[in-house]
Amino acid sequence: MTNTPTISIVCPCYNEEQVVGLFMERISAVLDSTSYSYEIILINDGSKDNTLATLKALQSQYDTIRVVNLSRNFGKEAALTAGLDLARGEVMIPIDADLQDPPELIHDFLKEWEKGFDVVVAKRVDRSTDSWAKKLTAELFYKFHNAVAQVEIPENVGDFRLINRRVVKAIQLLPENQRFMKGIFSWVGFKTSVVEYKREAREAGETSFNGWKLWNFALDGITSFSTAPLRVWLYIGSFISALAFTYGSFTIVKTLIYGIDAPGYASLITVMLFLGGVQLIGIGVMGEYIGRLYMESKRRPTYIVEEDSYIQQSENKHSGEITNSGENHDPSA
Ligand code: UDP
Ligand code: MG
Repeated sequence: MTNTPTISIVCPCYNEEQVVGLFMERISAVLDSTSYSYEIILINDGSKDNTLATLKALQSQYDTIRVVNLSRNFGKEAALTAGLDLARGEVMIPIDADLQDPPELIHDFLKEWEKGFDVVVAKRVDRSTDSWAKKLTAELFYKFHNAVAQVEIPENVGDFRLINRRVVKAIQLLPENQRFMKGIFSWVGFKTSVVEYKREAREAGETSFNGWKLWNFALDGITSFSTAPLRVWLYIGSFISALAFTYGSFTIVKTLIYGIDAPGYASLITVMLFLGGVQLIGIGVMGEYIGRLYMESKRRPTYIVEEDSYIQQSENKHSGEITNSGENHDPSA
């Protein structure tokens, strides 16, 4: 554990007490069968169940575990960022605790890395374990995101991947504290290889990404990597102005020819309400970006680590040294 490992597994855990034991079993079997040394960083992201205690108990069984406890639930993106910041390995592999990302695929990752790739991503070829709603919304998200953002996110590729230290250093150069990792991974680039896999259903426990949370996640993704939703108002505004101009000209000509035609309440109220609605949407989109600017401008850290078993280990060693030297310098000795 003290020697620098080659592989760092980075696994965020939120309410995963039922599955972490099984996860450790499967991933340890895979990693033991490679010739590389490794560490498994398990980040407890403010779980409400007994995940932390379970992780600590597993430490007596596996000396490869490093338990990092965040001070509260910061969300998966932040937990993943914490893991990447703390990882010491030559390559880092983010993976979900629920075994939806099959650990066995790590063999393929390593093969591609040995060929010289900096990044190896896992692409799902089969989404049959997802509900139709998730499939549809995921597809819409990728289509829309890739149409408006400068950097494309490959479809059906999640966070499960291998990245080498060079890539992690590049990721750390991105200073934003609201981190949409899928976008950040794509943004930094590097030589990438793709391996395909079938995503299994969750082994146990429940997904924490449903409906509203996914919608907000999608908004985060789009606003993090594109200003197109802001720019589109230039075109909507121009289009509506052109319409208004045409209608106005038409009305003037009509009045000149046929004289004043008093009734007009219905068309007037329709236009007013329509424009009011359009303006509010525009202000809403601007508000979304201003909100993000506001949050970023606070420069708050992405996460707070409450406890880190690796640091504790080295600190214990360190405090041991202090006691020793204290004894040596004890004047009464
Ligand atoms: N996760 C986390 N913090 C959260 C939510 C989720 O660290 O606030 C972890 C969770 O423990 C799991 C991974 O992120 O390892 C993916 O979460 P989940 O399986 O709920 O998402 P899904 O696979 O349904 O997208
Ligand atoms: Mg999952």
